[in-house]
Amino acid sequence: MTLKEINSSWVEDLSQPLMIAGPCSAESEAQMLETAKRIRETNVNVPIFRAGIWKPRTKPNGFEGVGVIGLNWLKKVKEEYGFKTATEVANAHHVAAALEADVDILWIGARSTVNPFTVQEIAEALKGTVKTVLVKNPVNPDLALWIGALERLLGQDIKNLGVIHRGFSTYQKTKYRNNPNWQIALDFKSQYPNIPMLIDPSHICGNRTGLADITQEALNVGYQGAIIETHSNPDEAWSDAAQQITPEVLADLISNLKVRNSDFAGFEGEMGRHRTLISDLDFQIIEMLSQRMKISEKIGKLKKENDIAIFQPARWKEITDYATQKATETGMSPEFIEKIFKTVHEESIEVQNKVMINR
Ligand code: PEP
Ligand code: MN
Repeated sequence: MTLKEINSSWVEDLSQPLMIAGPCSAESEAQMLETAKRIRETNVNVPIFRAGIWKPRTKPNGFEGVGVIGLNWLKKVKEEYGFKTATEVANAHHVAAALEADVDILWIGARSTVNPFTVQEIAEALKGTVKTVLVKNPVNPDLALWIGALERLLGQDIKNLGVIHRGFSTYQKTKYRNNPNWQIALDFKSQYPNIPMLIDPSHICGNRTGLADITQEALNVGYQGAIIETHSNPDEAWSDAAQQITPEVLADLISNLKVRNSDFAGFEGEMGRHRTLISDLDFQIIEMLSQRMKISEKIGKLKKENDIAIFQPARWKEITDYATQKATETGMSPEFIEKIFKTVHEESIEVQNKVMINR
């Protein structure tokens, strides 16, 4: 069996779109039960409750999860409020404990997906399981690594699979905590349209305000659902406080979602996919232009300190020659690219002029 033959019946048996909600971390029994109760009271359709029991933290000495005791709280959430439960596993011990506690859905976190040894260890510990296993994208933008993780799971006869798009980490700080890089997730979706894909807007945004837009955008391009960090008292959360929302805000977000045609081959899905890619590229173009202008400003300072003229014809020629040659190579008109670079160059000169005048 290959990944192309995986079927997505586990997700079709649940709600459309599939919503997974719950705290970033299990903190106490009271916090878990209160969060679960309030999600239920909103009456929105959330079949699965998430909570991190073992937390991968960037730096040591922080809160690293409550450990196995939290599995009892997940059990209570299941018994008292009828949720299926989900948690992250990062090694064979976690797997053994989670299976023993009958957690329904296990996910592999972004920091584990990057490591083939870890993924292999988890896959072997899960060998033959009928439970659903979700694989988050690796922290680095590497599609092959993401697919490789799924192949390792399938290699151990694990067939109820899905993926979570949680964004990619970058050194350059942007408005996202983790850049969505939609292109990578959509390439995955084009290759494996049969594997359910969920969006994790919480770890993409890193804040509360962008969650609804990212979730809607994902549904527009045919994702099957979302996993959203939800906490009874988000401001006091022990991890990821800035991005967690209350059950009531979650309910509001879910009821405002427009469920689009989820048939990825359909016109709407395809259109949405193209538009999302364009928005993603526009975002990157703007980010890059902004970085370019900042460098230009530094060059301006150097020129000022060394009494060099702003306009350097030889350098300008070098830039236009390169740009027009690249345009031809990539199938665009050199005139078009020259126009764009003229505008960029003009702005650059403007920026450097300001540096010269102001100091
Ligand atoms: C999480 O879901 O709480 C988590 C740790 O996510 P990620 O692996 O995407 O960082
Ligand atoms: Mn988190």
